[in-house]
Amino acid sequence: MNKITELESIKTKILTEMQCPLKDAAKNLVFGKGNPDASIMFIGEAPGAQEDEQGIPFVGSAGKELDKLLRSINLTLDDVYIANILKYRPPENRDPAIDEIYRHTPYLIEQIKIIQPKIICTLGNYSTKFVLAQFNIPNMKKIEGITQLHGKPNNLTIGGMNFMVIPLYHPAAMLYNPKLRPILGQDFLEMGKILGLEPAASKPVEDTPEKKVVQKQEKTDKKIIQKGLGEF
Ligand code: URA
Repeated sequence: MNKITELESIKTKILTEMQCPLKDAAKNLVFGKGNPDASIMFIGEAPGAQEDEQGIPFVGSAGKELDKLLRSINLTLDDVYIANILKYRPPENRDPAIDEIYRHTPYLIEQIKIIQPKIICTLGNYSTKFVLAQFNIPNMKKIEGITQLHGKPNNLTIGGMNFMVIPLYHPAAMLYNPKLRPILGQDFLEMGKILGLEPAASKPVEDTPEKKVVQKQEKTDKKIIQKGLGEF
């Protein structure tokens, strides 16, 4: 089986087997996007309204920021694969609940095993804690927060897979907290150096007129980030 077929079979398993109240409330499964042969995998938190609508991760305002950050180090969707901790949107974009993480992450782990990334970039607290806890959910609470961990690479071996983990702030965070914008921009540049990539000539992570358009969405994104980590 090639990677595309293997990923399709995981998708089918989620559609047919997975039981979770989020699944009943959501419009679409949001599985993953990008290049299955990529050596870099990004892991976000959960789909928002736009992702739920389209069934594709990171198509809303956070996704636009992520695209700009990728372009700042000359990366495109062809160079990365992107997935989330939760495969279905939590109502009102609330934080993932612990039982939802238990139900959804076995499929994320299968995605990681298929993609076999060399580098995993975790976006925000949930994915950072999940990966740095070596996929052991009870241990997530022992992992420091993204404020302490962002930009610092970690080499991990989990279940025979070796990869570097680079924790990053979630791009939605900089939409409501502009002070995080240069930090995330810098962390991407550092990541680019680790990957041996040249920074792009322009500075696409700076504020653009699109900012006004995203302001409405910011309120929703703000909710996701500000509510903290509940059980974690
Ligand atoms: N935020 C995420 O963490 N994932 C998405 O797919 C969209 C926004």
